[in-house]
Amino acid sequence: MSFVTHTLRFATHLKPWATASLVLALGTLGAAPSAWAQSTDLSACMAELRSAARNGKVSEATWARHTAGLQADFSVIEKLNFQPEFRMPIWDYMSALVDEERVADGKGRLTEHRQALERAEQRFGVDPATVVAVWGVESNFGQTFGKYPLVQALGTLSCHGRRQSYFRGEFFSALRILQAGHIAPERFVGSWAGAFGHTQFMPSTFERLAVDFDGDGRADLMDSSVDALGSTANFLARAGWQSGLPWGIEVKLPAGISLAGEGRRTKRPVADWTARGVRRVDGSALPASLGSVGLLTLAGANGPAFLVTRNFDALYSYNAAESYGLAIAHLSDRLRGAGPFATPWPTDDAGLSRAERRELQGLLVMRGHDIGPIDGMLGDKSREAIRAEQKRLGLDANGRGGQKVLKALRGG
Ligand code: CA
Repeated sequence: MSFVTHTLRFATHLKPWATASLVLALGTLGAAPSAWAQSTDLSACMAELRSAARNGKVSEATWARHTAGLQADFSVIEKLNFQPEFRMPIWDYMSALVDEERVADGKGRLTEHRQALERAEQRFGVDPATVVAVWGVESNFGQTFGKYPLVQALGTLSCHGRRQSYFRGEFFSALRILQAGHIAPERFVGSWAGAFGHTQFMPSTFERLAVDFDGDGRADLMDSSVDALGSTANFLARAGWQSGLPWGIEVKLPAGISLAGEGRRTKRPVADWTARGVRRVDGSALPASLGSVGLLTLAGANGPAFLVTRNFDALYSYNAAESYGLAIAHLSDRLRGAGPFATPWPTDDAGLSRAERRELQGLLVMRGHDIGPIDGMLGDKSREAIRAEQKRLGLDANGRGGQKVLKALRGG
């Protein structure tokens, strides 16, 4: 059962792990203390990689400039090896990624960038709300990029840990991006695994899909939101986005329907779903225009259910997680004026928005807990404090920040 689908996961074609915005929005996941005793000197490894880099069209000058004296940052290896012990329910994940704040911010961006978004729709066939929703989930509209210097992070991952051959490809790709002058070296920072900029592209994805959409001659996903919007639209177009087709719709399932064998990928004609008793969530007939659709349920038959089109698959391909795809899909609907899902998540303790997380943290601080900055991210320290308060209040002491503990603390 995929109640908890958002664990940091590997997607070979785009980006290996959660994006910077997810990590920051949902709380630092904590890392075990390292026992690395190795040297940070990467010079021997770089000497080994030099001819492969040359074959990969990284010039001698670029190589020398960016790898001379390069030091390993073993914190990225800790991130690579980290296994989350805290698994976040889908309703917590969705509450933080699609909250009123992000909907309002996204609406502002739609207005602000209307011209570029309309141009992107004309050229790539992807509508403004979808492009802005990706932007919001990926980097909180350009506010959360990650802080790791990418040459150092990818250089380290090319020489240490598992997946070195994968990361070498990304490392060379990153160097070619610098070589081409798309991004200034001092601006080239991102997630520990190498995703960067407004759209959190991996370097190889950048090379395949980034576009110069503001016409200054560079595809600058760090400092040009217009380039980022065009690049996102291009990504989705290349992932099979069909213009004018919705990502899907929320539906109501008939009692006793079997979910066995159903899923996003098991597409059936709308008529088949109608025959099985599936209706729109308001009870009306399914629109035939959806074509062939799969049934997506991330919390079982009693939670929100959706029929999803091939356009959902295009969103999914951005980060290879269904929870992630649903966050973008839902945010895009909210940007078009839709409300929250009609069916609640099957829990008696719903998740918190980022504003509510900050409120909860404030209440924890008032009670004398040291949780670090009040940032809306419920990391290890916040969870420890929540656990203590839950214990005191006679609640289930699971360390999870939900509506129950928030309401209890509001009441003293
Ligand atoms: Ca540009």
